[in-house]
Amino acid sequence: MGNIQLKKVNKSFGATQVIPGIDLMINEGEFVVFVGPSGCGKSTLLRLIAGLEDTSSGTIEIDGRDVTGTAPAKRGLAMVFQSYALYPHMSVRNNIAFPLKMAKLDPALIDKKVTEAARVLNLTNYLDRRPGQLSGGQRQRVAIGRAIVREPSAFLFDEPLSNLDAALRGTMRLEISELHHQLKTTMIYVTHDQVEAMTMADKIVVLNAGNIEQVGSPLDLYHRPDNIFVAGFIGSPR
Ligand code: ADP
Ligand code: MG
Repeated sequence: MGNIQLKKVNKSFGATQVIPGIDLMINEGEFVVFVGPSGCGKSTLLRLIAGLEDTSSGTIEIDGRDVTGTAPAKRGLAMVFQSYALYPHMSVRNNIAFPLKMAKLDPALIDKKVTEAARVLNLTNYLDRRPGQLSGGQRQRVAIGRAIVREPSAFLFDEPLSNLDAALRGTMRLEISELHHQLKTTMIYVTHDQVEAMTMADKIVVLNAGNIEQVGSPLDLYHRPDNIFVAGFIGSPR
């Protein structure tokens, strides 16, 4: 579970073509990073996979099933939003439980899933706090917890660390990598930060103006960039 295949995916907003046509295979369990400059189409591509935007043409398959045009809830994926998307008036427990309550799961089962997510994320002692009583990193973990309880076949992250300070970004980078090692679930992670891409990815997809410039491991891109864009983007100091 967690194979995602894009076939000739094209997206235009009105007359503006943002994604001319992308073919891409994401394999079960991979940590895939979409990296590229601001405005190159990273978020749009992620939103197409999540079903938050409709493709203009082309198809998206998840585990061999054509999901093109289906609602986000039917795709079995979880989008992790930035930590400020938490409900400030709800406890950590209720923030994490929220999607399960919406799905009307049995309360005992909800409790079990929330307890397990809190254990994985080191939030056990914070379940009765409100988001305002947590650090930025803890809030980000709650946002991830809300995705974990749904047991998605893939996690989709859109620049989840961009509103954190540099030190915390480093810590969270390690935490998300560690989470991937624990869960072994497909993760697609969007960033414009070369360091995040190089340190977190199994596979990097370098985007430029809606096109894929290169797909490869961090070492591939570093040692064997296909073109000057990739070399400049991966090699340039921050
Ligand atoms: P990135 O996440 O790489 O910064 P985006 O995917 O957000 O890039 O945007 C890619 C391009 O598509 C940009 O030029 C942006 O202005 C345009 N775009 C994104 N969403 C919309 C929209 N809803 N309507 C019109 N243009 C959009
Ligand atoms: Mg974006």
